[in-house]
Amino acid sequence: MDFFDKVKLLGEQAKFDLCGDCFVSKEIRRVKDINLSQWIYPTTLPDGKKVRLLKILMSNICENDCAYCPVSSLTKVPRISFSAEELAAGFMRLHRARLVSGLFLSSGVKYNPERTMQEMLDTVAILRRKYNFRGYIHLKILPGASLQSLETAFKLASRVSVNLEVPDEKYIEKISSYKNFAEDLLGKLKVISYLKKNNPSYLRDGFTTQFVVGAAGEKDVEIISRTYELYRSLRLSRVYYSAFQPVLGTPLENSPSTPPIREVRLYQADFLLRRYGFRIDEIFFNEEGNLSTLEDPKTIWANRHLDFFPVEIGSATYEELIRVPGIGPKSARKILALRKGISHLDLETLCLRIPTFRRALPYITVRGKKPVTMAEIKALF
Ligand code: SF4
Repeated sequence: MDFFDKVKLLGEQAKFDLCGDCFVSKEIRRVKDINLSQWIYPTTLPDGKKVRLLKILMSNICENDCAYCPVSSLTKVPRISFSAEELAAGFMRLHRARLVSGLFLSSGVKYNPERTMQEMLDTVAILRRKYNFRGYIHLKILPGASLQSLETAFKLASRVSVNLEVPDEKYIEKISSYKNFAEDLLGKLKVISYLKKNNPSYLRDGFTTQFVVGAAGEKDVEIISRTYELYRSLRLSRVYYSAFQPVLGTPLENSPSTPPIREVRLYQADFLLRRYGFRIDEIFFNEEGNLSTLEDPKTIWANRHLDFFPVEIGSATYEELIRVPGIGPKSARKILALRKGISHLDLETLCLRIPTFRRALPYITVRGKKPVTMAEIKALF
């Protein structure tokens, strides 16, 4: 099996790992009859730079038994692996052809987590030292990898991730009999956080985690509470949420899939905590401990705090503006910039310049005037 045949299989099986704001490329890129667009993900890095990631597994051999996973030891799929040299050389061929500019490398646990982690680190070391590749590399830390491997990954990769998968120890046994939540998963994130705090120049794109939402019966309040703690105490760069989808041949093949709206609401709540300065006690959960599927968490907060409104667009602070539904950090900055340039900011200008401003209308005043009637609002569009 040559490099591209392996990319076809190991790229397909790597798609369940989230690695940034990545979405599948729509561009058709064919190399040796393989449509690489399926495994190349255009992604925006924290500094705004755009990269094309090759997302790939080192191996789909895995001794673990994660119940949702298509390559666990319980499933029947053809098993293949790259060698470190083969993967590094193949990646560089794609890089030189300008098809990819970054690598996301994960793997099944092949026989022994430390041995597999070492092979992944060898791949990255070859890219960095032999090929002098200075671009983006996101490296998955395997459960069971040693502290020494963690330190090496910390020095070689641009970003690393440890997937918690579930928010609490009590759920881990529902999805895996091998993984140890406190020591192996959360414990590793704590070590990475410690290393980053003491060596801020390494791991320039930070470290992340991922939850498989709905696979273990966990509640949104548990996921978001864990997220809040990860951002506050460990300074995680990002938390990703992947709505569980049953895969044929796995122990969970007959379990219901998680509705995509649940994933959307988790990202919205995450944004409020990470970018809008909301506290965990400002996120509303229903009696079952879940976010509403009907309304986004910011609108729910606004409707439960009507005494905070209306916000006067002409004088509100940035912090006040981003509390208004329909106004995010980018729109708030735009309003502040418009206020400097235009002496009499009016509703028409705001609606023209900010596409989501219609949602803000019930919560604002402009020059002391509230757009109260629907006729007034409709007249603006
Ligand atoms: S460790 Fe679990 S999630 Fe990762 S490849 Fe193995 S079975 Fe799949």
